Amino acid sequence: MNKQLIPLNHDDVKLLIVHCSATRSDRNFSVDNLIATGKARFGQPSYHWYIRRNGNLIPILPETVRGAHARGYNRCSLGICYEGGLDPQGRKVDTRTPQQKAALFELLKQLHRDYPKARIIGHKELPNVAKECPCFTPSTEYACLQPEA
Ligand SMILES: [Zn+2]
Repeated sequence: MNKQLIPLNHDDVKLLIVHCSATRSDRNFSVDNLIATGKARFGQPSYHWYIRRNGNLIPILPETVRGAHARGYNRCSLGICYEGGLDPQGRKVDTRTPQQKAALFELLKQLHRDYPKARIIGHKELPNVAKECPCFTPSTEYACLQPEA
């Protein structure tokens, strides 16, 4: 099932939401798998960017269309997903590699320039989200890239 993508206006972007793929850090979760999962669940790819364990940054959706990654917030956010989030035993831990951390920081730095009023948060930091996604706390880790209060 493919649904029509909905436009997203630059000025409507208030949040930059970080997710993990919730897959094990010793396994590959390919771009095709990520896109297929989004399509199966939401009729479209979920995220705007995907960051592989080797630090490769893969654009998935254009910034000009809505993602499908944060219920109730897709109309005002961009979604970034990194590969991992579970250790080889399936426990929820910060599995980000140094390359992923560097790529995520570079992307968020660029997005902070392009969307200076947007707050960086993790999926789990939204109200009423019970899951541990992602497995660290972006709002504090990227305090230096947050909008002026
Ligand atoms: Zn998430």
